[in-house]
Amino acid sequence: MTYAFETNDTAILPIVGSDYLFPVSQIYCVGRNYADHAVEMGHDPDREEPFFFMKPSYAILNDGEQMEYPSFSTDVHHEVELVIALSKGGRDIGINEAMDLVYGYAVGIDMTRRDLQAEAKKKSRPWESGKSFMHAAPCSAISLIADSGEINFGSITLSINGTEKQRGDINQMIWKVPEIISRLSELFVLSPGDLIFTGTPAGVGPIQVGDKVQAAIENVGEININVGKVSSAGETIEG
Ligand code: MN
Repeated sequence: MTYAFETNDTAILPIVGSDYLFPVSQIYCVGRNYADHAVEMGHDPDREEPFFFMKPSYAILNDGEQMEYPSFSTDVHHEVELVIALSKGGRDIGINEAMDLVYGYAVGIDMTRRDLQAEAKKKSRPWESGKSFMHAAPCSAISLIADSGEINFGSITLSINGTEKQRGDINQMIWKVPEIISRLSELFVLSPGDLIFTGTPAGVGPIQVGDKVQAAIENVGEININVGKVSSAGETIEG
């Protein structure tokens, strides 16, 4: 079988200590998974089931690269998050089997056009325009699970131009890694190469063109990116 045209390249992530590359499939994200962030966004953290949204794979931005500040927004926010990287998929995975799917972890930033998200919330519309855009998912290299095991604690931080903006601990996550995987697999079809952004602690706020953003998670790794200008109009993407 021959395709009618070539499709875009697969998004990839490097793997710490390996020459292999991790091919990114779907990107899932968990909403309001830290109590203090749920409170800062005006919600009661005790009464909510986990909920999910997705980003396109072209949202991936690798460590050391420049982020394009997105169009249609003047209020892009950073959300540092633990990222689960899967090497196996499946449906209806039990909590006790969930860790079998995990390949490793990474440090991700759920970049959000907060102004567009707020407008969507107000009008009871989907969040895509707020959460999905080029470079909306900066992500570090993947640390293999053999090095880190099941992650239940460890500091999670984000700094802009050397000033700390977010600090939390993985132990504050309301829904834990196996629970998130199990629930996702009941709603969706999980595949090898899927990434799961697991929610952010308090302290989210805006980024600006020219910012240097650093995010880190203890025992996982870190990512450094620069924020650049919005792209010029009229660019054509060739297959
Ligand atoms: Mn988030």
